[in-house]
Amino acid sequence: MDFIKSVTPPTPLPPRAYFFIFSSADILIHRIDTNIAVPCMENKAVPLGLKDLCFFGTHRDIPCYCGKIDPEKIPPAHEFVKLRSLYTRVEEIFWFMAGYARQIHDWNINFKFCGRCGTQTSRKENEFARVCPSCDLHHYPRISPAIITAIVKGNQILLARGVNFPNKKMFSVLAGFVEPGETLEECLRREIFEEVGIQVKNITYFKSQSWPFPDSLMIGFTAQYDSGQISMDTSEILDADWFDADHLPMIPDKQALAGELIDWFVRSQKSNPY
Ligand SMILES: [Zn+2]
Repeated sequence: MDFIKSVTPPTPLPPRAYFFIFSSADILIHRIDTNIAVPCMENKAVPLGLKDLCFFGTHRDIPCYCGKIDPEKIPPAHEFVKLRSLYTRVEEIFWFMAGYARQIHDWNINFKFCGRCGTQTSRKENEFARVCPSCDLHHYPRISPAIITAIVKGNQILLARGVNFPNKKMFSVLAGFVEPGETLEECLRREIFEEVGIQVKNITYFKSQSWPFPDSLMIGFTAQYDSGQISMDTSEILDADWFDADHLPMIPDKQALAGELIDWFVRSQKSNPY
């Protein structure tokens, strides 16, 4: 295993470390000619403007930290890029580590004060928890579960354009966040009915994916159309329709579980099961 999660830095500390440095949705990269890499610097770089550093594991025995940087102290040949743009531009393990780092970083900076009583929190030694010394409330990294579903009707799949999609021409499968008190299946039925007014059946688990934008756990399902006509909730959906595998609109790539689900549908239409 190239990457080992851990809350405790190794001792003695190796001279170099990876620094996963964030600025909202962006990550700092080191540009080397046309290639990019996660910065690997000597630990003495820490006084050079890195802040809120949090150790989160090792990659081949090299410590990994997440944190922030003073914008005026960004080293030469380093720049911020969109975290999502790292996909396929760095080794897959670094893509995974960057997503994990992002979620640990968000937790580390977002829970500096207790949400219940406002007291400054402190790090717990043996796990990723920030604890309130006044009321003992524990703050853990946040994970927001969301369902995502490929709905199939005969030889067609339901795809929609959401009002919040960054690319307004993009169609995708439907997704929605799980609400308190709901099972995943209840969430799926509610979201589908709310967004497009149809009922589904034969809900089947597909796979899940951590999606650190910023803290989702996507839980993928397939389902079959049961009844109803498409009736859009225009506050969430711009357009929704049934599509043949041979006539798909612009869709997400397989980086996202949405793309994998649509790919599953296309493969199933060609009698080539996953
Ligand atoms: Zn408190």
